Amino acid sequence: MNASFPARAAQALGDRTLKLAIDRTTGNARAKRAAAVAAWPQFEAARELGRDIKDHVIAHLGYYLTQFERNARASGAEVHWARTADEACAIAIDICRRVGAKSATRAKSMLGEEIGLPHALVAAGIERVETDLAEHVVQLAGDRPSHIVWPALHKTREQVREMFLRLHDNPGPLDSVEAMVASARRQLRRKFLAADVGISGANFLLADSGAVCTVTNEGNAELTTTPPRVHIVTAGIEKLVPSMAHAMALLRLLVRSATGAELTQYTTFHCGPKRAGDADGPEEFHIILVDNGRSRMLHEGLAEMLRCLRCGACLNHCVVYRQIDGHAYGGTYPGPMGAVLTPLLDGLKETQDLPRACTLNGQCTDVCPVKIPLPKLLRGWRERAWREGLPPRSEVFGVGLWRFLAAHPALFRLATRFALLGLRGFAREGWIHSLPGARGWTAYRDLAAPPRRSFLDQIKERQG
Ligand code: SF4
Repeated sequence: MNASFPARAAQALGDRTLKLAIDRTTGNARAKRAAAVAAWPQFEAARELGRDIKDHVIAHLGYYLTQFERNARASGAEVHWARTADEACAIAIDICRRVGAKSATRAKSMLGEEIGLPHALVAAGIERVETDLAEHVVQLAGDRPSHIVWPALHKTREQVREMFLRLHDNPGPLDSVEAMVASARRQLRRKFLAADVGISGANFLLADSGAVCTVTNEGNAELTTTPPRVHIVTAGIEKLVPSMAHAMALLRLLVRSATGAELTQYTTFHCGPKRAGDADGPEEFHIILVDNGRSRMLHEGLAEMLRCLRCGACLNHCVVYRQIDGHAYGGTYPGPMGAVLTPLLDGLKETQDLPRACTLNGQCTDVCPVKIPLPKLLRGWRERAWREGLPPRSEVFGVGLWRFLAAHPALFRLATRFALLGLRGFAREGWIHSLPGARGWTAYRDLAAPPRRSFLDQIKERQG
């Protein structure tokens, strides 16, 4: 991804089909979430409980990780530890090579995307089969996910139909969404049964039993993890919860916030490999516990971000995401939560535009099921960028000038009057359509013409 964030955002803003696709999906998601929340009077109390569960685990991470590892091993799982994305991929590829895997099915996992597992599989010569319907669309398009819950949000159903007609075997006329889903099911079914390895993520890791919980609406996680000989789980260490009861408390929040449903269609607890007498299940069960910067978050003022359930509600309600879509963000995670995570994962110098591209209106925090103070965390990145001297010189100059004027009231009033006069020179019928030095703003929206008198002058006048 070479273009800068402003260039990617500008390209997205000019794409009307993309805007249609974003509006359809996020509008639907917001309406369903609002209805689900309205129908659950205890929602606020559940949010507080969810926040407290996550904070408790984060404060005792070492204890619960040890407990999870012990219980997972007792159930027959092999537990691996990966400090970095590369280490996690290397462990997964080693397992695939050891068992002679030619193909691997994958259930949707943002952690898998974060560590680059899809590319690692292809580079290792292993056929990668994305089994989530939207991920299947993304894979066929040679694309990247643009939303953490709806990875193909950037595609309209018309675009998907055209692609299925071109790339599926015997797709039929595809004259309805049901027909399109059936065609994808036919393509994927034989891949499920032929795969050597199934790879999933985890929604929750249960410390008291060593079980891994996955939730889907399509049942693809079950088909990914049951027929193959080997099941590999890649999971971030923040997915831990003490017990099933805690997982259920968080699941109720996650599902309502993500899709507006009360529960996912499939909620599965994977607990070790197939046992003697079991009809099916994997012979080997591996869990790769991934850090990849999570421990650093504890010490860099980002611990609250470890509460994230990856529900996507903050994306659906973000006024920036809804204009530019996920690809413009450039990293694995888009939207407000992505603007907090990406500087940590990819470096602040390269990604400082993301925390700055936020209006700080706070809607993301209002809808977050675990009350993550996203604007506060974004402001933290801005402050750090400022301390490290990263913002452009023009901004440093502008803020320096403002600071000087603000400390000299007479000069400030004089400068304000000149600025008003200058700005009004660009106004036509109450609006400024183009302004030198502010074209980044006026290219997409008009600026209201300023009043004749400054705020301070008006106050003075009113006070007599
Ligand atoms: S930050 Fe909150 S709203 Fe956003 S994905 Fe995470 S849990 Fe959901």
